[in-house]
Amino acid sequence: MTTQVRKRRVAETPERPGRVESVEPGTLGEELGLEQGDQIHSVNGADLVDALEFQYLADSEQVTIVVERGNEMLEYEIERELWEPWGITFADPTFDGIHLCENACPFCFIKQLPKGMRKSLYVMDDDYRYSMMYGNFVTLTNLTEADWQRIEQQRISPMNVSVHATDPDLRIALVGNPKAGDIMEHLGRLDRAGIEFNTQIVLCPGVNDGEQLDRTISDLLSSGENLRSIAIVPVGLSQHGIERQSKRVRLSRTCMRSLPAANQKLLEMRRHTHDEAVTVIRQVESWQKKLRAEHGRSVVYLGDEMYLMTGEPIPPSREYDGFPQVEDGIGITRLFLDDVDRVIRRRKRRDLTGMGGTIVCGTLIESTMRETVERINRSMGTTLRVISAENTLFGPQINVSGLLTGSIVRDAVQHEEVAEPVFISDTMVSRRTHTFLDDMSVEDLSAALGRPVIPAENMNEVLQSLEPSLVSIA
Ligand code: SF4
Repeated sequence: MTTQVRKRRVAETPERPGRVESVEPGTLGEELGLEQGDQIHSVNGADLVDALEFQYLADSEQVTIVVERGNEMLEYEIERELWEPWGITFADPTFDGIHLCENACPFCFIKQLPKGMRKSLYVMDDDYRYSMMYGNFVTLTNLTEADWQRIEQQRISPMNVSVHATDPDLRIALVGNPKAGDIMEHLGRLDRAGIEFNTQIVLCPGVNDGEQLDRTISDLLSSGENLRSIAIVPVGLSQHGIERQSKRVRLSRTCMRSLPAANQKLLEMRRHTHDEAVTVIRQVESWQKKLRAEHGRSVVYLGDEMYLMTGEPIPPSREYDGFPQVEDGIGITRLFLDDVDRVIRRRKRRDLTGMGGTIVCGTLIESTMRETVERINRSMGTTLRVISAENTLFGPQINVSGLLTGSIVRDAVQHEEVAEPVFISDTMVSRRTHTFLDDMSVEDLSAALGRPVIPAENMNEVLQSLEPSLVSIA
């Protein structure tokens, strides 16, 4: 009898796994003389598969590590205090590559990307390690029993889980994978292991909203005390995605064949209408009210787009309970507005008189941004302007600032005959590559426009960068 071993699908396997990228001064790594380019092979005799395993195994008082440097293999035997940091950053956090997804979600945004974007954007990752390290959302459909045991043993927490629906058949259809129906069992297993988890629902009108949404929220609330939050975000549809959908090419053939017959109908993806979005807001509000009364926190949070597209007020800060899913964009508009209030309260009135610049944003936030900038101009005497840019690459339905490319920003402001800075949201630029989605660098854009381009996290950063630049409107 032969045992079939499932081969894991991976991408971006590093040429030199375990390569040290940097060593922080004043740490154990530096004291040992570890250097950039060293390759760490094992800790206490165990081969390493990723940076998390290094952290786990090397977190003891007696540690032996084997390091390759040039043509030499070096062995370090160390006695350390448990609090002593290693200070090592690895060039590739996962030494065996990135685990790829085995799903075919009908709303998959990666499948909706047009050609010619940054290469790493096309990697369809579904790797639980990236969930813990970088907050990526995972579906748990590609976990092996060995992965589960490792998560439990090494307490890999917190985990961010894409749920979408808890009705098994509906989740199978929404994730496009016959293995996706066990989500409640999977969350229960995380909970029993003491792993905290945030959950996400990509809301598709007419598919997993209404009663299905109530069921999903209710099921998730029963998934255990380690549930931290439930985020609900509206489905995003790019122009390329709409065209793919019109050609009926959403679910992969393999997946369609393996899905139960009831789920083989293609799910129609579309954006929420204004009225549908308002209905979702009311539905979520009633859950939040109930949960705040019972547990003192909202638990369920709605993506900012829902409020912005309907003109409904953004909830106050206290209803975000410390913003548990801010990295997923939940509540960033509230943080932005609160920051503006603080800036106006604290800054000396009219200390930036005559200072100007152009803020480029997506169409979704346009009216909020215009109102905000008018308030700032009135209060500070600045002459900031707002230009909203339609997303010509993804299509008008993709209207958030963070998905604008360098070329779109260039086209939006190149008619302005001024030398003042152009301010963009720092979410448009990759923290790792410092480039826009179309691989244009901030420096290249700045050179093309002949004026400074400044990525800013908030309005305070915009105003701070105006202080030294005594550029006035030409
Ligand atoms: S899990 Fe779904 S949305 Fe994520 S990459 Fe895979 S198919 Fe796309």
